[in-house]
Amino acid sequence: MNAVLKNLIAAEWVEGAGVSRNINPSDTNDIVGEYARADAAQTLQAVAAAKAAFPAWSRSTPQQRFDALNRISVEILARKDELGRLLAREEGKTLPEGIGEVARAGQIFAFFAGEALRLSGETGASVRPGIEVEITREPVGIVGLITPWNFPIAIPAWKIAPALCFGNSVVFKPAEIVPGSAHALAEIIARAGLPAGVFNLVMGPGSVVGNTLTGHPDVAAISFTGSVGTGRGIAQACVAATPMKKFQLEMGGKNPLVVLDDADVKVAVEAAVNGAFFSTGQRCTASSRLIVTQGIHDRFVEALTERIKGLVVDDALKSGTQIGPVVDQNQLDQDLRYLKIGKDEGAKLHWGGEILNRETPGFYLQPAIFTGASNAMRIAREEIFGPVACIIPAKDYEEALAIANDTEFGLAAGVCTTSLKYASHFKRNSEAGMVMVNLPTAGVDYHVPFGGRKGSSYGAREQGAYAREFYTIVKTAYTNPG
Ligand code: ADP
Repeated sequence: MNAVLKNLIAAEWVEGAGVSRNINPSDTNDIVGEYARADAAQTLQAVAAAKAAFPAWSRSTPQQRFDALNRISVEILARKDELGRLLAREEGKTLPEGIGEVARAGQIFAFFAGEALRLSGETGASVRPGIEVEITREPVGIVGLITPWNFPIAIPAWKIAPALCFGNSVVFKPAEIVPGSAHALAEIIARAGLPAGVFNLVMGPGSVVGNTLTGHPDVAAISFTGSVGTGRGIAQACVAATPMKKFQLEMGGKNPLVVLDDADVKVAVEAAVNGAFFSTGQRCTASSRLIVTQGIHDRFVEALTERIKGLVVDDALKSGTQIGPVVDQNQLDQDLRYLKIGKDEGAKLHWGGEILNRETPGFYLQPAIFTGASNAMRIAREEIFGPVACIIPAKDYEEALAIANDTEFGLAAGVCTTSLKYASHFKRNSEAGMVMVNLPTAGVDYHVPFGGRKGSSYGAREQGAYAREFYTIVKTAYTNPG
């Protein structure tokens, strides 16, 4: 076994208070590595380091920020195959998906390198004669970044890059089960020429490291992506803290993909397969409710079933694998629990849902579709976070739209149609933050805002130029030049 990989605090690599094992979900005999697990005291040290580094970094020039972010981008992109392999090995998405995610992380850093140069303020005329008004954006301070396991490098990238770009210092806490990509990213960032303490990595449990960050008076802002329950707890902690913290939450989804009578069946099937099952359905933007109008229902179900039967579920690193394993035993148990719930509620398990055996011991689950589901069922209301989708029949477009919006979530929504009228109406009337026409529900582009409405998200949007809203704070200055 190689040496334990360490946390990064004040530019030093430090041992943790304990050790976590990173296990390959495609082969549970394969230990990806051992990673330091920080405790509360080390988290406090990381916050102190970030605090000490903030004054200088907050006054750094756009060129310094550009140079650091650009270096990070260049190295990530140059190493995308190797890092993509590590990501696929620890998380279980397929190798092409892993490489694609790493490339996206590199592109995000390139985008924010540019944003550092583009940050500008405004001037305005005062209502009082002779007075000058300036509106500028300043860094928020120390930001705590708490990320989930399903995008082990892209989500950290889309929080870390804007945080650094706008002059904040960072304490980054990745999800415990995917420390490999987070650590590799931290190594790259550590070489990028940032002053000591501007960026700190603290791996460890949410209940310890995460809690310490959300309760710490010196942490000015928390950006979180994860489950609804944890997000709610973080919001409460941020509001209970003195001073109250700025926070941003990206949580669950129960994303509808509406398939209308006039849809191109092939396009609809591809959108559904990609949206529901790629990345093993472990995406907050997964199309977990397929709402299908009656004129196309049977044709769509038949074509979808044929397509799913041909999907190759296997080791994430094997060439030809289309669906990798579920991330771990807990998540597999949750998927199986929902498969049982769906059957007990009276939906028909039309295909899939079997545990699969492959050459190596792993968490392999056949993609599953329920037919005859109703939107009132738990499988249609609660996030499963696995390769499980339900088909909900609808009479017509109006009913399909009403079902699509009848959810506590509002992250992404899609419609498959060849009608301009329905496409336009759906874009305007969907209650989701991201709407797709004839496409999977995933929000892929890194230069435009990502985020949802209702119970899916809280606070400012992430990604693209909109990210500045969260990572900067506005100052209004008045001058009387005399
Ligand atoms: P997921 O199941 O997608 O990992 P979670 O919401 O459980 O979603 O976890 C998302 C992130 O939040 C992880 O990094 C986790 O360690 C962290 N986390 C969990 N509990 C807390 C908490 N009480 N305070 C802060 N962060 C937490």
